[in-house]
Amino acid sequence: MSKADRVATSQFDDYCTDSKYHEERYELITRYFIAQKAAIGSKIKCAYCSKIIIKKHYRQRFCNTKCKNKYWNFIDSVRKARAKIWNK
Ligand SMILES: [Zn+2]
Repeated sequence: MSKADRVATSQFDDYCTDSKYHEERYELITRYFIAQKAAIGSKIKCAYCSKIIIKKHYRQRFCNTKCKNKYWNFIDSVRKARAKIWNK
């Protein structure tokens, strides 16, 4: 098993057993949709780090691109892990 496979498998195990992971993921997604619905000029929480920011663009959901990348990596990690295991 390659290192990447081991990482993917451990992420998959986390997905199956770690309810804290589910909760965190749920919180992130909830913040994302709240930010999405908020009007421009209103206060929103960064979908990843929950820092309070003013929404300046209609597509803004994060305080910076670092958070945006981290958010999508976090959300995607489960899907990628699953795809790796099931596509064999
Ligand atoms: Zn942030």
